[in-house]
Amino acid sequence: MNAVDIRNEDELRELYRELILDHARSPRHFGRLDNATHSAEGINPLCGDKLRLYLQLDENEKITAASFEGSGCAISVASASLLTDAVIGLSVPQALEYFAAVTAHLTDTGSVPTPAIELGKLRALEGVREFPSRVKCATLAWHALNSAIHGDAAPASTE
Ligand code: ZN
Repeated sequence: MNAVDIRNEDELRELYRELILDHARSPRHFGRLDNATHSAEGINPLCGDKLRLYLQLDENEKITAASFEGSGCAISVASASLLTDAVIGLSVPQALEYFAAVTAHLTDTGSVPTPAIELGKLRALEGVREFPSRVKCATLAWHALNSAIHGDAAPASTE
C-alpha cells in the first residue's frame, strides 16, 4: 500500500511543504520555450521575483507546452513550476479557470466560495494564505499566465 493516509493537518502541511521545496529546488519546465506562441513577464517588486512564462498553443487553442525562466523566492519558483505542470494539455478556457480558481483560493478571505475545479497538487500553495506578503509570490506566475493568454504587452505586476 502506497496510499498516503492524511491523519491530521500538520501532516498535510508537511507534505505540502515538501512538495513546494521539491519544485523550488528542481523546477519543472524551466528555461526558454523556443517555439512559444505566447509569453508574458511577471514582476513582484515587493519580493524581487521576476519571471517570464512561455506557452505553446496549437491551432485548437490547446496548451501543448509551457515553460518559465527567471528568478525569485522559493514560493514564486515552486508556483511557476506547479503551474507549468498543471496547464500542459489544457485548453485556454480550462487554463483560465485554473487561474481564477488558484488566485481566488489563495486570496480567499472566507467570503469566496471554494473553487469548483479540483486543484489537486496546486493546493500545496495554500500555505501562503497564512503569510499575506507571500500571496503575491504564489500568484505571480498565474498573473503571467493570464497576461500571456490575453497577449498583454506590459508585464504582469503584483503592484
Ligand atoms: Zn517572492
